[in-house]
Amino acid sequence: MTDRPSDVGDSSGTDAFVGADAVVYDLDGTLLELVVDWDRVADDVAAAYAAHALIPPTDDLWSLLDAAGEYGIADDVEGAIAAHERAGAARSRLLPLGDRLLAGVDDRPASVCSLNCEEACRIALDEHGLTEAVDAVVGRDTVETHKPDPESLLAALDELGVSPERAAFVGDSPSDAVTADRAGVPFASVEAALATTDNSSRAR
Ligand SMILES: [Mg+2]
Repeated sequence: MTDRPSDVGDSSGTDAFVGADAVVYDLDGTLLELVVDWDRVADDVAAAYAAHALIPPTDDLWSLLDAAGEYGIADDVEGAIAAHERAGAARSRLLPLGDRLLAGVDDRPASVCSLNCEEACRIALDEHGLTEAVDAVVGRDTVETHKPDPESLLAALDELGVSPERAAFVGDSPSDAVTADRAGVPFASVEAALATTDNSSRAR
């Protein structure tokens, strides 16, 4: 989900990606693209606040989600966002990196760390036959905190049995890069990962 616009599109991280023993991928904008109208999501979240006669404290969607607990409407707000994500996951589009993962040319252990809800992640992965390609799926509601807090990335790594410095996190947003930094995991942009055209013969 969606820290667009992506501005981590340089080639940074190619070495990190090539040298990693395991790879954690962001989902939306990295492996595939959820078809979600985020303006409509924001409208529905604002409506959830309004339904309880509450004035939203910010207009940032994710800040509204984080604040919802204090207002006693966490379930309503989470539900509003997740409904859009699940529908968008079922209609998602595979991106080149997802296509590569699906092709199975990279035999390193892989998992997903996403800001989307876990159920939407699983729907999207299943939609494209990628469920078997990953060993773990950590969404925003899988552990106590979400990106850019490092906990979800570390949880996604935990399943792979690889230490942070021996892994790589591939993502499309500045928030992903921050998450990687906080977790001590080398970061690779989507472009950097795609620049390694032949994972099967990666230099080690
Ligand atoms: Mg993303």
